[in-house]
Parts: sequence; structure tokens; C-alpha cells
Amino acid sequence: MKKVYITRQIAEEALKLLRENANVTVHSGTLPPKKNEIIKNIRDAHGLVALLTDQIDAEIIDHGKQLTIIANVAVGYDNIDLEAATRKGIYVTNTPGVLDDATADLAFTILLAVARRIPEADSFVRSGQWKGWSPNLLLGSDLRDKTLGIIGLGRIGSEVAKRAKCFKMKIVYYQPQRDLEKETNIGVRYVSLEELLSISDFVSLHVPLTSETRSMISRRELNKMKKTAYLINTSRGQVVDEEALYEALTEGEIKGAALDVYDKEPISPDNPLLKLKNIVLTPHIGSATLETRTRMAVLAAENTVKALKNEIPSCIVNPQVLEHRKNKT
Ligand code: NAP
Repeated sequence: MKKVYITRQIAEEALKLLRENANVTVHSGTLPPKKNEIIKNIRDAHGLVALLTDQIDAEIIDHGKQLTIIANVAVGYDNIDLEAATRKGIYVTNTPGVLDDATADLAFTILLAVARRIPEADSFVRSGQWKGWSPNLLLGSDLRDKTLGIIGLGRIGSEVAKRAKCFKMKIVYYQPQRDLEKETNIGVRYVSLEELLSISDFVSLHVPLTSETRSMISRRELNKMKKTAYLINTSRGQVVDEEALYEALTEGEIKGAALDVYDKEPISPDNPLLKLKNIVLTPHIGSATLETRTRMAVLAAENTVKALKNEIPSCIVNPQVLEHRKNKT
């Protein structure tokens, strides 16, 4: 029977599917396995089911002599060396689509949380500071008639836009390719990045981490935003320059921020962002619902099983691998 290594305990439904088709080894514990543990386990494995916290680099891939698939249980795949995998003829797959609603819900939740100062309000009540109703207590910001600027109107960005419509917001978006169909269907307006930054009351990031998007929101971009604006990031931490964000938040360049993702995860206890009141922080839980995480794990398991059976899996993010594999046979 072929072998599969999974770097963390995933949903039972997915494990069952994999166990029916392979000899499965699962890394126990909640933290990622060490690099040498991954290497040890993939030496004779045909499938690797990985999570976004596993850095699957060329060295690891080199040790997977029999590996046919790396199935990432995430839509982002910036943790995998795609070139190295492609060279070796290994499929790399992700889990697009099944997490859009959960991630858009989270983006909207933290947008509302920062606009309505929910963490501050919660600790205000718990700490016994609430002495009575007051007309000026914890005033936040309306959403109605405000402009939401979406950077990356892909699967998740589009779902965020649909939610914003229900909150009576105006929506503009920026991405390299204009999408006329979505402009009509959702009711969004295409603008340049510069314009988006200067007119938006809320800027929400939904781009993949690539060489173009790394640090795309830095000092210059934050300075272009309104002093009353909020930045929401549920994409990848490295898209935002955190030092510049700290400065913008403390110097009043922008009003607030809400982050689900960070430059270094977990966030360091001495990260100065932790001390600020005008920021909402969640621990990378965009897709963290029971139903969504199950769907993601099952999709990764289905892709793995297909590859084990010499079928072409769905959700391949390195399509060039098909050519490599064809040339090999
Ligand atoms: P997607 O459907 O591929 O959408 C990505 C969007 O980003 C596309 O509209 C794309 O536009 C745009 N984009 C690419 N490069 C850009 C650039 N340089 N400037 C501006 N826009 C750019 O991806 P998705 O499924 O929505 O996921 C987006 C990202 O969210 C993932 O890659 C992942 O990193 C993150 N994510 C985070 C969580 C979490 O737990 N917080 C959960 C899920 C996903 P074009 O079509 O024009 O290229």
C-alpha cells in the first residue's frame, strides 16, 4: 500500500478517506513537525498532506523520492517551493473555494470589530469601568455610505464585497486584471491602487503572497490613506510592512487596523502592535470553522487519493508539472 504523511491531525472524515487508500502516518501535537521529522517521514511517502505553517522547501522535496503530491490544506501555497516540486514532477494542490465564506465572514467580523471598538468595549465591561450609559461612550464608525476598498477581488474578496453591499457600503476594487463581469454582478467600481487608498474608509486585503504583493502596503501606501480609514488584513502578514503600520497607527496616519495574519506567526510577545488600542488582532483563524476546516481537509484528501491512483488531482497550482510528468513517461 502507498504511504501518506500528514503534518497534523486533520478532520476525521479526511483521515478515513486517506486510510482507506494508503498507509497513513499523522504527526501528533498541535505544533508543526520539525524539518527533520518531515524529511524522515517523506523518504518513502507517496503523498504529503501539509499545512500552511509547514515550510516545504527544496531540501525537503529532494528527500521525497517517491512523492507524487503535496496537498496543502489551504488556498495559499506560499509555504511550498513550487519550482522544486515541479522539477521533481510532484503535483502541488490547494483548497480553493471551500473556505471563501468562512474567511470573508472573518474579514467582515474584524472590520466590524475595529469600526465598533468591540475588544475595547468588551474589556471595558469586564474590568468594571462601566458606570452607566453615556452619549459619547466608545463611539465608533458607521459602515453605511462608507467606501470599502478591496485589494484583490478574487474568490474571498468577492464574498467580502457581497457582505459589504448588505451593509450599504460603496465598493471599489483594485487588482491587475479588471473583472467586468463582477463589476456588473456585484456592483463594484475598478480604480487604481492610488485612488483606492485615497478614497477608501476601509481597505481590505485579499491578495496571495507573491513577489509583487510582498510589502505592497508600506509607509507610502499608508500615508495615502485617509486619517479616518481602517486597514483590514486577512491575506498574508508579509503583504503589510508591520513597522510602517505601527507608525501609521501611533502617528494618526490611519485610524485603526484589524489583522488576522502577521509577518511572523505566532506574533512575538514584544511586538509593539500588541500594545495599541486601535487594532484588533486574531490568530490566523480566517477559515477556522468546523465545517470549513473539514471541507478543506476532505478536498486535500481527495486530491491525494487521486494522485495515489495515478489520476490527475484537481486544484493543481503548478500546472507545468503535467508537462514534466508527460515527458517522464
Ligand atoms: P484568488 O481567488 O486567487 O484571489 C486573489 C486576488 O488577488 C485576485 O483577484 C488577483 O487578481 C489579486 N491579485 C493578485 N496579485 C495582485 C496584485 N499584485 N495586486 C493586487 N491584486 C492582486 O484567492 P483567494 O482564494 O481569494 O485567496 C486570497 C488569499 O487569501 C490567499 O492567497 C491566502 O493567502 C489568503 N487567505 C487567508 C486566510 C486566513 O486564514 N486569513 C484564509 C484563506 C485565504 P488577478 O485575478 O487580477 O490576478
